[in-house]
Amino acid sequence: MLRAPSSSPCIFCQIARSSTSTTLLHSDEKVVAFQDINPSAFRHYLVIPIEHIPTVKNLKRGAEDFALVSHMLDVGQTLLHRDAPSSKHYRFGFHQPPFNSVDHLHLHCLALPFIPSWKSIKYTSLGPLGGFIEAEKLLEKLKPFPPLASSM
Ligand SMILES: [Zn+2]
Ligand SMILES: [Zn+2]
Repeated sequence: MLRAPSSSPCIFCQIARSSTSTTLLHSDEKVVAFQDINPSAFRHYLVIPIEHIPTVKNLKRGAEDFALVSHMLDVGQTLLHRDAPSSKHYRFGFHQPPFNSVDHLHLHCLALPFIPSWKSIKYTSLGPLGGFIEAEKLLEKLKPFPPLASSM
């Protein structure tokens, strides 16, 4: 009997390769952006790396991952400032496992207000056990250590 393929195709990988009907709001050699299928705010976009990185837990401190996340945030900010210029509040961040819905890293980019307003709970960091980490906080964790001052 045939078994199902061991690695089921990841939906976000398919979107990143443009093999779905999802409209890409942005695409470059590192990331793509598209609308969340189930928006929780006035504008709600996702920015994902083209490379399959499962979750924030797979990111490492250092220049490479720092640059990737900074770029994701840049793209999200640019899109929201273009499409929701009159929003007063924006929020950018990631769900941490086990609170993430899809195991392919994705940055939630929200132009508030939340619709409906109780959705805000899903995108608010609630301390160390919180399921959501703001992009700025994640960048703080990934920031490369300054080069050691040479003592020789
Ligand atoms: Zn993937
Ligand atoms: Zn998520």
